[in-house]
This record gives sequence, structure tokens and C-alpha cells, in this order.
Amino acid sequence: MKYAILGDIHANLAAFEAVLEDIEAKGGFDEIWCLGDIVGYGPEPHACIALLRRCKHISVAGNHDWAAIGKIDTLDFNLDAAQACQWTAQQLTAEDVNYLQNLAIKLRRDDFTLVHGSPRQPVWEYLLSVNAARDNFGYFDTNFCLVAHSHVPLIFGQNKDGKCFAAKTPSVLRLRSENRRLIINPGGVGQPRDGDPRASYALYDSEAQIMYHWRVSYDITVTQKKMMEHKLPLPLVLRLNYGY
Ligand code: ZN
Repeated sequence: MKYAILGDIHANLAAFEAVLEDIEAKGGFDEIWCLGDIVGYGPEPHACIALLRRCKHISVAGNHDWAAIGKIDTLDFNLDAAQACQWTAQQLTAEDVNYLQNLAIKLRRDDFTLVHGSPRQPVWEYLLSVNAARDNFGYFDTNFCLVAHSHVPLIFGQNKDGKCFAAKTPSVLRLRSENRRLIINPGGVGQPRDGDPRASYALYDSEAQIMYHWRVSYDITVTQKKMMEHKLPLPLVLRLNYGY
């Protein structure tokens, strides 16, 4: 089976479509494992939810998904994110709201735990350091955990002796021979933050037990033009150019 691992789509339909086309060109997928933040920041929240729902998929909830339906407030958001969130809330249909409302915060598939932020705090915690990751290995019981939220493609590992490490998500990650546990972030589809503006995602081949990390160029100006039309905050428009 082939699983497409997509995080932080963030209502960026052009990026999402480019990723799906890229996966098709690589032989397609059996199921999408979505790591949350389907909406927020970007100009097409409804279309992204609709496209995801047309695909066979499972998804966990992200903080922006919850904020857009009022399940959490935006006090912890910066002003631009909060403004985009208010706009997003107005774009959702009743069915969209119902869909986001019912997303779980943690899912398990095979030897993977799926969360948006971290196993310890599924919706909120950013995993960007070895120290934070070390504590989190005690909060899931599968060998592997998939996270998003930071929009940065990183892996954290814990060796048999308990030693932890961090690395950039490699383009080919062999899981069969792993005698270590891993927390894997595929990077962000709709708003990458590692200095590379291309959409970032992973494809897992369960037979070969290999995870591939891919970057895909898309027409950023299509998304930016729509954001400008909807008067979404300019810093959110510009950051797409820089992948930050
Ligand atoms: Zn996000």
C-alpha cells in the first residue's frame, strides 16, 4: 500500500493539487494520512476540505482547524493568523464545520501514530528540538509517530540505548531495518517554513517499508493572487515566496 502523508495544507489549493498530481505521476496512493491544519492562512479552505474528502483519507485535527470552527479561541495566534482565521470561519459550509468538528486528535495506523503537534500535546506542541522530542517518545507506543505543525521537515530518533537525535527528513528513509523509534515530520504542503518554498510531503510504501520525502514546485502566484483578492494579511502572502 502507498500512503501519502500530508501536513499543513493550510487552504492552499494550488499546492495541494500540485502534490496530488506529483503523487499520481509516481504511481498514485491508496490513502492519504493527513496531519491536520487543512485550513487557516490560505485562500481556499472549503475547496481544500472538499478535495481532501473526495480522496480516500484519514485526518487528525490541527490547531487552525479547531480555531476556524471556534473549538479553541485565537488568543494564542498572532494577529495575522487570527485575522485569517476569522475570514476562514466565514468561508466554511455547515458540512465543512461538521467535518472539522469530528476530526480526532490522535489516530493509529499500522505501526504509526498520527498527530498534528506532538504525541504529548496533539494539537499544540511544536517539535523542533531533541529535548522536546525526547520527552515525547514516552507518549506513544507505536514505533513511528507522524507529526506536522512546525511546517519543517525533521525527524527525531530514539536509539535502543535511549539516545535521541534530530536530522532533516531524508529523501529516502528505510524503516524496515530501523531498530530505533522515529518521530517524522514531512514538512508543510501549503506553507513550508524551512526556507524552501516548494510544497513538502512524504509517500510511504508499506511493502518496501520505505518513506520518501518529496518537494514539489507549484504556481505560488495563483495562491497569492487569491489571498490579495480576499484581503488576507500581506505578510502571509509574502512568506510563501520565501518558504517561511
Ligand atoms: Zn500549520
